Amino acid sequence: MRVVCPKCGREGVVTIHRVRARGRVYEYLAVRHGKETIHHIPRDQVLALEDARELLRKRLEELEAEVEACRKLLSLLEEALSGGDR
Ligand SMILES: [Zn+2]
Repeated sequence: MRVVCPKCGREGVVTIHRVRARGRVYEYLAVRHGKETIHHIPRDQVLALEDARELLRKRLEELEAEVEACRKLLSLLEEALSGGDR
């Protein structure tokens, strides 16, 4: 499965690693970016590409709404300022 790595933000292939220590089995995820680079990350921090895309879309919509609000406020202020000094 291809995912977005929470450590570096790049795309990679995720694999599950199992480690036995003191009679217990530990599972963790590893994101492989190439032959050399592997990032280990907690399970709950991995985002599938679809989820990452959805989050980015939502964030973009929020930002666009904020920009719109700022533009309105700015034009109101400029109107007020230009009307005031004469
Ligand atoms: Zn990474």
